[in-house]
Amino acid sequence: IYTQKIFSGSRELLIDKVSQALSTKRFEHVLRVEEMALQLAEKWHVDAELASIAALTHDYAKERSDEDFLREIEKKQLDRDLTNWGNNVWHGVVGAEMVKDELGIAHEDILNAIRQHTTGATVMTKLSQILYMADYIETGRDFPGVEDVRALAFDDLAASVGWQTAHTLTFLLTKKVSIYPGTLLTYNTWSVDK
Ligand code: GDP
Ligand code: FE
Ligand code: FE
Ligand code: FE
Repeated sequence: IYTQKIFSGSRELLIDKVSQALSTKRFEHVLRVEEMALQLAEKWHVDAELASIAALTHDYAKERSDEDFLREIEKKQLDRDLTNWGNNVWHGVVGAEMVKDELGIAHEDILNAIRQHTTGATVMTKLSQILYMADYIETGRDFPGVEDVRALAFDDLAASVGWQTAHTLTFLLTKKVSIYPGTLLTYNTWSVDK
């Protein structure tokens, strides 16, 4: 039960709306992210309702067309440079605008967590760190080190953000895809030994 009026309806209604926007496979990922986000929220003393809503909506826009995202960038007068990127960057940064307009969720901490869930950011609230990590370590994820980083997220949340960022960046470099500048800023802030 949601009690804070962040979303106008029940968790069940939100789940209904999100499931209609996504394939079964992705919707199941979203439910696993919520489960992990709630566990991390309890551990790190973050509000459960915020964690639930952020997790359930984080990939809401992931299956939208490029045209939809480009139209939204224009409509909301977002940074022109965004047009040079693609779905990986858009579904969070631009997708947050769709969550706001279409689901009526205006809570800025939730919207920022959605905006930051793929690339991170230099400044991240605990909610944002939790979503970034829950997306990465939900129980359906399987990659070398996943059990280590799962444990780390419950032991040192900030260190786990640094771990994910360094590993994702390494992976992107091996694929020779372009690195979003925000990803590099996240790396410099969270992954570099100080
Ligand atoms: P998902 O939506 O649950 O699949 O996960 P994410 O939103 O975290 O990530 C979506 C994709 O974006 C993943 O394949 C990441 O590896 C990729 N990604 C993250 N950062 C960058 C970046 O800086 N550049 C590019 N090209 N892709 C990135
Ligand atoms: Fe995502
Ligand atoms: Fe992620
Ligand atoms: Fe996700």
